[in-house]
Amino acid sequence: MNTAPRNVDRRSFVKGLSTGIAAFSAASAFPSLARGASASSPKKLGIALVGLGNYSTKQLAPALEEATDCYLAGVVTGTKSKEAVWREKYGIKRSNIYNYENYDSIASNPDIDIVYVVLPNSMHAEYSIRAANAGKHVICEKPMAMNVAECEAMIAACKKNNVQLSIGYRLHFDPNTREIMKVAKEKPYGDIQYVQSEASFIMGNNLDAWRLDRELAGGGAVMDMGVYCIQAARYATGEEPIAIRSQEFKTDWNKFKNVDETVTFQMEFPSGAYSNSTTSYNIRSNRLYVSYSKGLAQLEPATKYGGIKGSIQDRILDPQPINQQRRQMDGFARSVKTGTPSIVPGEEGLADMKVIEALYKSLQQGGKRVVI
Ligand code: NAD
Repeated sequence: MNTAPRNVDRRSFVKGLSTGIAAFSAASAFPSLARGASASSPKKLGIALVGLGNYSTKQLAPALEEATDCYLAGVVTGTKSKEAVWREKYGIKRSNIYNYENYDSIASNPDIDIVYVVLPNSMHAEYSIRAANAGKHVICEKPMAMNVAECEAMIAACKKNNVQLSIGYRLHFDPNTREIMKVAKEKPYGDIQYVQSEASFIMGNNLDAWRLDRELAGGGAVMDMGVYCIQAARYATGEEPIAIRSQEFKTDWNKFKNVDETVTFQMEFPSGAYSNSTTSYNIRSNRLYVSYSKGLAQLEPATKYGGIKGSIQDRILDPQPINQQRRQMDGFARSVKTGTPSIVPGEEGLADMKVIEALYKSLQQGGKRVVI
């Protein structure tokens, strides 16, 4: 049973948070926590996972067992029965197990350097900001938050508390995805003309799932998987989109009565490149296609946890034997240790959220072009 508060009024919530930030800065009370270990420190940084659902249980916690620069030091859960299970499985100290009521007291725990928020989307801003106020560095899962205002409040809270903020964009740590980014930067095949990105899956029949509840998820496929399409178009072009048009298709009006099921959208980029994307909770698709003036690249699958493969011209990109989540968390731990910015800072999540807001605006306007 979860005891965490449901978030109803986002506007007053963000306003309240700003007041909270001004009133209490644990980073100033515990400056050593905010700075983390020194660059040369061999110390593994302690991570606390907040929310022990599927992603924490099946991906993040196992990945932390392989990590070299961080380890699973603590957890935050609203489900009492999970406490002993996680304590025993991962050897977590009793004093490093928190619930949603005593969460803020994590501020005085020197074992926890980084808080990783893995909760339903509507809780990302609140729990990230509270972690920052507790003087902890923050990783927040995608989508960063419910809207642009929340993303900005999260970035401001981390800046104010002198802690780093990173978004769970694991694909930036995948070598084959990084090859696509490199082509966008170095342009060996000429101009980038067109990107096609698709990220979808077929949602199961659990109609109580928070992903189908607009108040908790902020939207449907767009918030969950569309963010990968937006990311892909942005890193495959190396540009920020300037305008968007979007269209929605719904085939199951019962299951998807509160959230979007399938959405296609087209984006324009400053160089003249454009993209076409599809995201859905009711089809199977997972690929990236990039047309250059003198070549092409493709990845399929393009967003899975492992096995990302494809080609750039006649160069085959074989699947790499890496753990994306381990690399992502180790990468962030090293950023904290060395005081260098994360390669996926809060600003990356904010950029995607600006696109998402424009996408939904276009949907409301019957697919009209919306400037981002
Ligand atoms: P999940 O439903 O499996 O887990 C959610 C957790 O939040 C559960 O432990 C649940 O008990 C807890 N919770 C607390 N308050 C809740 C409430 N009011 N309603 C529902 N649950 C509540 O979800 P998940 O798949 O682990 O996703 C969590 C976050 O991680 C989401 O933001 C999702 O987008 C993100 N995610 C990212 C990736 C990735 O590849 N980066 C993959 C999966 C999920």
